[in-house]
Amino acid sequence: MKKLPEYLSYGQQRIEEEDIQAVINTLRSPLLTQGPKIAEFEQKLADYVGSKYAVAFCNGTAALHGACFAAGISEGDEVITTPITFAASANCVLYMGGTVVFADIDANTYNINPLEIEKRITSRTKAIIPVDFTGQPADMDTINKVAKRHNLIVIEDGAHSLGAEYKGRKVGTLADMTMFSFHPVKPITTAEGGIIVTNNDDFYQKLLTFRSHGIEKTSYSSEQGDWYYEMTNLGFNYRMTDIQAALGVSQLNKVEHFLERRREIAKMYCEAFKEIPEIIIPNQLKDTNSGWHLYMIQLDKKVSRKDIFEKMRSLNIGVHVHYIPVYWHPYYHQLGYEKGLCPIAENYYEKALTLPIHPGLKDEEIQVIITNLIELVETYKI
Ligand SMILES: *Cc1c(COP(=O)(O)O)cnc(C)c1O
Repeated sequence: MKKLPEYLSYGQQRIEEEDIQAVINTLRSPLLTQGPKIAEFEQKLADYVGSKYAVAFCNGTAALHGACFAAGISEGDEVITTPITFAASANCVLYMGGTVVFADIDANTYNINPLEIEKRITSRTKAIIPVDFTGQPADMDTINKVAKRHNLIVIEDGAHSLGAEYKGRKVGTLADMTMFSFHPVKPITTAEGGIIVTNNDDFYQKLLTFRSHGIEKTSYSSEQGDWYYEMTNLGFNYRMTDIQAALGVSQLNKVEHFLERRREIAKMYCEAFKEIPEIIIPNQLKDTNSGWHLYMIQLDKKVSRKDIFEKMRSLNIGVHVHYIPVYWHPYYHQLGYEKGLCPIAENYYEKALTLPIHPGLKDEEIQVIITNLIELVETYKI
C-alpha cells in the first residue's frame, strides 16, 4: 500500500491566477453586489448552455427554491424526485409546502427511472425534479414525454452536470428550468452560488422577483416617483454578489478544460477497473456525455465497503459515499417515509463508493488510488 503525503479530497475547486485577479478587480470596483458582473455571468452562462435566460442565486439550494416558487408548487402539490441525491433536491419542495414523492432509480445509470415516475403520478402531481447524478444526464426525452402527458413542470437538478450532453445537446435546455450549483466541489465555482436557466418568460420574471424579496420595480404608475417599488410576493434575499459573479465569469472560461480533465480521469479509472470483478464501474448510456462530477463505483457484496472506505481514508485517499437515500434521513423518516420505498436505490447505496475526481488531480495520484484499491479489493477475491 502506498500512502499519499497529504489528504486528497474527492472533489475540489481549481483556482488560478486569473480567477484571483477577477475577484480583486471587482473588490476595487464601486459595486460589490447588484452590479454589472451578475448580468455578465448570467449572459455568459445562458450562452454557454444555449438557454434564453439565466438567473443567478446565492447558492444552488436557493435556486431550486426559486424554481419551485416559479413552478407554483404549494400545499397539497406532489413533486417526484430521486432518493439518490443531495437532500436539497427534495427540500426545495418542502419549503413551498409541497409533498415529496420518491421514485426509484435505474440500476444501470443510478438516475431516476421514468417508468417509476409514471407509476407515482397522481391527480396532485405538479412537477418532476430529475437529477443528473454524477454528471450523466437523466433520461430527459422520456421524462419530458411523461411530463407532457400529465401536464407537469420539469425542473432539472443539474448541480453535477454543467457542460454535460444529452443526445448532442448541452444540459440547460432539456427541461422547463435547470439548476446549476457553483459550490467548490461542483464543475465550476463561485464559492457559494447557483443559477436557474430557462426559456420561459413567465418563469424568468418570477425568478427575478423571488430572489429579491418579491419586489417589482416595473409596476409603478406615472403618478409615482422613481423611488417607488412594490413588493408583490413573499420573496427572499437570495442574490449572488458581484464578487462571486466575477469569479464565475473567470471560471466559466475554463469549463471545457475542466471537463476534459474529468473525462480523462474517468477513462483511466474505467480502464483500470473493467477487468476487476469486485468493482462495478459506472455505466454510461451511449447518447450521454457525462460531466463526471463524481466517479462512483459499486463494490461486490462480498467486499466490505466500510473496510475499504476506512483503509482508503487511512491512506489519505478521500473516498466518500454519494448518497444516503434522502428519505432515510431522520427528518424525512419523521414525516412518514419508510425504508424499503425504493429498493434499487437502497441496494445501490449499500455498495457505492465515491473515488476522487477533480481537474487538479495528478496522474501519479490517480495511479496510487487505482493500485491501492485493486490491492484492497483483491483480498476479498471472489
Ligand atoms: C450541491 C447540490 C445541490 C445544492 O447546491 P448548493 O449550491 O450546495 O446549495 C443540489 N442538488 C445536488 C444534486 C447537489 O449536488
